[in-house]
Amino acid sequence: MEIIIQKYGGTSMADANCIRNVAMKVIKERRRGKAVIVVVSAQAGITDMLNKKAKEISGNPSKRELDMMLATGEQVSISLLAMAINEMGEKAISYIAQQVGIITDENHTNARIKNINSKKIMNELEKGKIVILPGFQGITKDNEITALGRGGSDTSAIAIGVALNANEVEIYTDVLGVYSADPRIVKNARKIDFISYDEMLEMAGAGAKVLHYRSVELAAKNNIKIHLRSSFDKSIGTIVKEEEALMENAEIRGVAHNIEKAKISIGNIEDKSNNLTYIFNEIANAKINVDIITQNHVGNNKICVSYIVDEEDYESALKISENLKKKFKGSYVKGNKDIAKISVIGIGMKSNYGVAAKVFSILANEDIDIDMVSTSSINISCIIKKVDFVKAISAIHFNLLDEYREC
Ligand code: ADP
Ligand code: ASP
Ligand code: MG
Repeated sequence: MEIIIQKYGGTSMADANCIRNVAMKVIKERRRGKAVIVVVSAQAGITDMLNKKAKEISGNPSKRELDMMLATGEQVSISLLAMAINEMGEKAISYIAQQVGIITDENHTNARIKNINSKKIMNELEKGKIVILPGFQGITKDNEITALGRGGSDTSAIAIGVALNANEVEIYTDVLGVYSADPRIVKNARKIDFISYDEMLEMAGAGAKVLHYRSVELAAKNNIKIHLRSSFDKSIGTIVKEEEALMENAEIRGVAHNIEKAKISIGNIEDKSNNLTYIFNEIANAKINVDIITQNHVGNNKICVSYIVDEEDYESALKISENLKKKFKGSYVKGNKDIAKISVIGIGMKSNYGVAAKVFSILANEDIDIDMVSTSSINISCIIKKVDFVKAISAIHFNLLDEYREC
């Protein structure tokens, strides 16, 4: 029995017509003799709407209760899809995470899948049923409902692929594949046919939300190919897979942006050897992820430390930084949410010099100030003003990625 795993995102499940479209695609595979597992997200807008409801009640809701609420979005989707498939004459059954044992850790709102019990899923497939499972939700060993974090349904689909020894997982979304930039922002963005796990990890980590970062990580670890494609078009999408010789040719594969970042600076603190350890331990203890860090010596044995965090961690990081300022006798803490991080990504950078210089010169020509820079062997990222981000990624794309630009 050939098993196929398909995941459909929120826009693919947006309304009754979309759900019927998904049902038809699933049934087509079933009628070709395949055993089909479908993973679905909450309908478009539902997770946002639920989060908004929580905010109306509490400024700082318990993470356990948030997960309890958020998991319902996916539960509605699985049952609606099962009904649509049954309505069309095929047998389908939906299960929530608890019923099939999608076991996660206890980290509410950002839980990680530890194990999936494939027995029940296999039993149903053997009976000829299409099995429909929720993305994004899980259950702890103590029966607590958890959620994997925004965009986490992609990761659920790959984890199910791992549990069932799949070679490939299909992820259906609202664009034709992974593009060289967000196609909703850069009009000349090109669809990429193949992309390596490493490049896709950099793209996802840099803000290309077309795939959840952890889904790519998990797929890479287990060598599962991801076929990212559109629910609304039959064409082949993008294959995310192990790097191959031919893929190395591209100096730059794509450009990504993240406008949900914030910068914090602690000014004129004492320059002691273990300051940085202390500062970033405090921030790590609050479970805050830090992105770029800079340290400048400003004379008189003083330093300024700046760092980038996700916007959602801004308030907590600011509070911690105020305490750190006092501890190290600093003179100010500055916060700035009007920033964006833009990233240029490509395996070919490993063997081509001068890419950073090209990026800086393109931004300079557009009069865009660069505040911070970080690089890896396949990624150059710059922190710029948020108002400049569309101009920045469009200019970089035009100069480095557009095939047919006028000379
Ligand atoms: P789904 O609900 O199906 O999971 P998402 O909204 O999470 O869909 O992801 C698809 C969206 O990702 C696209 O609509 C697109 O705007 C955005 N996106 C950002 N960067 C890229 C990129 N490089 N290639 C394709 N889409 C991208
Ligand atoms: N419903 C969740 C979200 O909107 C998970 C997902 O769609 O992947 O983030
Ligand atoms: Mg998504």
